[in-house]
Amino acid sequence: MEEIYLDFAAATPVASEVLAAMAPFWSEDFYNPSASYLAARGVRETLESARASVASVLGAKSSEVIFTAGATEANNLAIHGVMRQFPGANCVVSAIEHESVLAPANECDCRLATVATDGRIDLAKLAELIDKNTALVAVMYANNEIGTIQPLKEVAKLVTKERTARAASGNKLPIYLLTDAAQAANYLDLHVSRLGVDLMSLNGGKIYGPKQSGCLFVKTGVKLLPLISGGGQENNLRSGTENVAASVGLAKALELAQEVRASESKRLAELQNYFFSQLAKLIPDASVNGSLKHRLPNNLHITLPGQDNERLIFALDAAGIMVAAGSACSASGEESSHVLTAIGLGDASARASLRLTMGRTTTKAQLDECLKSLCRLA
Ligand code: PLP
Repeated sequence: MEEIYLDFAAATPVASEVLAAMAPFWSEDFYNPSASYLAARGVRETLESARASVASVLGAKSSEVIFTAGATEANNLAIHGVMRQFPGANCVVSAIEHESVLAPANECDCRLATVATDGRIDLAKLAELIDKNTALVAVMYANNEIGTIQPLKEVAKLVTKERTARAASGNKLPIYLLTDAAQAANYLDLHVSRLGVDLMSLNGGKIYGPKQSGCLFVKTGVKLLPLISGGGQENNLRSGTENVAASVGLAKALELAQEVRASESKRLAELQNYFFSQLAKLIPDASVNGSLKHRLPNNLHITLPGQDNERLIFALDAAGIMVAAGSACSASGEESSHVLTAIGLGDASARASLRLTMGRTTTKAQLDECLKSLCRLA
């Protein structure tokens, strides 16, 4: 039985090129990049080239890239790093953020910005929530459950408007825009100044790089407090001996993602259209969650009325097909997904929903097989 993996939003296999690029830094090039001898200086150089490579994909400076152990850490560094400086300030975050944004934001005075039923942020409501005490706005680039792409440039305009008003009124509180781009990096433009963001988190484990690799883009001039203090590595923002292999892996993965971005996005968008049109024919009462237009090309989030997703997941697994219910990161929770609640799905519909996410090895034949199984089971 061929195994069909349709959970690429949860994890991607490490690309062979990435593995090859990382390998020396676990063995012959194991040196601490802070040591002074020649061999260690070579490792430092490689680490700094990895940083420059990530920076070039983001259209940023090397000094603006802080390596972290994944997007959870990057989001925590961004949120706590800003908010702990301004105890009286508030942050405004979209209601469909990943838990790694919601949890640290909820430790502060946090306001949730609602989304419309298509999963896109309501810009007028967001504007109403931003006030003179807002230090941080967090809106994810693309959602991990329903794949919705947010109008980041429009959000950035709102933040710039508030910044300009503060400059005129003498309000010294800064206001920054954070975007969690963990799910976007395979498919969307990551150029930070085109997007207008001040902080952006990325994750290697979703882009065919190693898990626990990632980075935070920190625009020059944005001041953060560190979460981890010690030897002062990563510009004093993330102490601890650098994980050179992970950083090299992230850089290589990002480089490859950039190379195949256009072709993979096109290929997957065609498969996505195919899947949705077949589904409409085969299971006419099935529905698609989230915007069809502003959507990651690899995301197939569907509701099959009357079904129980847990049963479907087990039955599909038995047929060799791996899919998720809602978000894999919150799979342990019994409650309905906050994302599906935010777009207006009731508990029964949420429980009848599946998230299928495609990747580089997904084929039309695999989707046909999956559709066949869904018809048999649903
Ligand atoms: N942000 C988003 C949008 C995600 O999808 C994930 C993981 O699923 C994360 C953050 C957290 O990434 P990690 O678990 O690698 O830290």
